[in-house]
Amino acid sequence: MIKKWGDKRYYSLNYFLREKYGSKVFKISLDAGFSCPNRDGKISSGGCVFCSERGSGDFAGDREYSITEQFKDIKFIMKKKWKEGKYIAYFQAYTNTYAPIDILREKYEEALSQEGVVGIAIATRPDCLEEEVLDLLEELSKKTYLWVELGLQTVNDKTARIINRGYKLEIFEEALKNLRKRNIDVVVHSIFGLPGEKEEDMFNTIKYLAANDIQGVKFHLLHLMKGTPLVKLYEEGKFEFLEEDQYVKIICKAIGLLREDIVVHRLTGDSPRNLLIGPKWSLKKWEILNSIDKTLEEKNIYQGLYY
Ligand code: SF4
Repeated sequence: MIKKWGDKRYYSLNYFLREKYGSKVFKISLDAGFSCPNRDGKISSGGCVFCSERGSGDFAGDREYSITEQFKDIKFIMKKKWKEGKYIAYFQAYTNTYAPIDILREKYEEALSQEGVVGIAIATRPDCLEEEVLDLLEELSKKTYLWVELGLQTVNDKTARIINRGYKLEIFEEALKNLRKRNIDVVVHSIFGLPGEKEEDMFNTIKYLAANDIQGVKFHLLHLMKGTPLVKLYEEGKFEFLEEDQYVKIICKAIGLLREDIVVHRLTGDSPRNLLIGPKWSLKKWEILNSIDKTLEEKNIYQGLYY
């Protein structure tokens, strides 16, 4: 039997949040002013090869402003389009558990105290989840809905070295175990089109995720952005951009490979137009999303079909 979540053939974040809160829920992307051990020299100073100047938080608020100010500014813009709604405070830029514990607590609590906030999402690295951080996250998760996002990108340690991820798969596994022991939901990022990866490698990552105790995924297309170390790899011919139809095909199969209960937070990423070198077709986000829906329909694929 074909499974559907509203009008989609996959379990979208939008569907999940509507079911949970009974209304539209928006994410407000924040930059809390943190750093990242993969950029400040603790692990490396180069960062993940695809990571932009703003620590992969190009659409987040401005770190020069407080959490409250960022929140109010973004909410103000959203309210022009959507009068009603609830909010998830999303700590997106850089590594959001990489700071002294009292600072983390202060920032998270400031976000949670904003009017209309019903949850908090924290993006971080699996090697930045020490015991005291886990304790704090567990404490917060008892007060509000909290999920943690981990940037795994690939299950392949060889690719992880090429992209300078800075940790091995076993570190991710340890972090996942620790978070789940505390009943914290985990959302994992994966990137398609990484240097050296064939489609089989990409699907191996998804099969691995589907077999693990994760609650959400974010699929990204590898973007080449100005000023990132990835530019050099591209110029050296170490990888090519995925084509649009190839990406759509990969996403549809990946959806089929996922477990039914895993929430799909994203099907493609976006980059600021002025920073994106390629692939340029990725700027047509709505066209890509429509094309994914159409292909799922035509090929009769739905989430969990191949699981
Ligand atoms: S861990 Fe995140 S913030 Fe740090 S370099 Fe990698 S993508 Fe950028």
